[in-house]
Amino acid sequence: MDLGIKGRRAVVCASSKGLGRGCAEALAEAGCDLVLNARGAEALEATAEHIRSTYGVNVVAVAADITTDEGRAKVLEAAGEVDILVNNAGGPPPGMWHDWEREDFIKALDANMLTPIAMIKALVPSMMDRGWGRVVNITSQSVKAPIGVLGLSNSARAGLTGYVAGTSRQVAGSGVNINNLLPGIHATDRAVALDGGVAKAQGITSEQAKIDRCKTIPAGRYGTADEFGAVCAFLCSAHAGFIVGQNVLHDGGGVNATL
Ligand code: NAP
Repeated sequence: MDLGIKGRRAVVCASSKGLGRGCAEALAEAGCDLVLNARGAEALEATAEHIRSTYGVNVVAVAADITTDEGRAKVLEAAGEVDILVNNAGGPPPGMWHDWEREDFIKALDANMLTPIAMIKALVPSMMDRGWGRVVNITSQSVKAPIGVLGLSNSARAGLTGYVAGTSRQVAGSGVNINNLLPGIHATDRAVALDGGVAKAQGITSEQAKIDRCKTIPAGRYGTADEFGAVCAFLCSAHAGFIVGQNVLHDGGGVNATL
C-alpha cells in the first residue's frame, strides 16, 4: 500500500534502537525524510547511515537527551517545520510503590509525559497552519493494563493519555491527527533487560524468563520493532486522517480486554 507520505518530513525521538528505530525505518520506507534522535552518538549515526543507504531519504541525526530542555531545543532546531512527530523516550525503571519519592515521579513525568507534550506544543502549531500533520506517541500496554512494578511508567503514561484525549480532539479540525501506540512485549534491548530482571528475582535463566513471558501472550511470542514500525507508519499515513485520539494496542493479545 502506498502510504501517501512520500516527501513528508518526520521527527522520530529516541530512535537509534528498538521501537523508535522500527518507526523510523517504516517511515523512511514510505519515503519520509527524517530527523532522528538518541543520546548515544555512535549508534545513532550508524542507524542514520543505514537508513540513508537503504531507503535513499535525507536523515539528520541529533545526539541529545530528549527529556531535557537543551536536548529538545537541539532537536527542534534541526527539525524546523515537520509534518510527522513520533514521540518516544526510554521508560522509567521498575520498582515498588513504597520506594518512589517525589523526585522519581518528577523524572518519570518529565520523560514520558511532559517531554511529548512539549514536542507537541512546539511542532503541532505549524502543522495546523499547513493543514496536515500526524503525531504518534509511543506509550505502553500498561496504560490499559497497569503493571505493578512499572508504577512510575503507569503514572506518567496515564497523564499523557489524558492530555492526548483532549488535545487530539482540539486539533483534529485542522488536519492534525494525534494518536497513541501502545506496545506490549517486543524483542528490544528493553525486553532483554526486563527478562534479566525477572530472571534475577525468580532465580531462573533469562531464556526461561522469556519462555514464561511468551506464555502470557496469546500470539505466543514477542512483537518485533518492524511490525510496530509498520503500524506507526500507517497511523502517520494519508489514510489515517479519520483516526483521532485512539490508544492502539500492539500486544499480540496480551491485554485481555475488548474495549
Ligand atoms: P530500547 O530498545 O531500549 O531503545 C530505546 C531507544 O531510545 C534507544 O535508541 C535509546 O538510545 C533512546 N533513548 C532512550 N532514552 C533517551 C533519551 N532520554 N533521549 C533520547 N533518546 C533516548 O527501548 P524500546 O524497547 O524500543 O522502548 C521504547 C519505549 O517503549 C520505552 O518508553 C519503553 O518503556 C516502551 N515500551 C517498550 C516495550 C517493549 O517491550 N519493548 C513495552 C512497553 C513499553 P540512547 O540510549 O543512546 O539514548
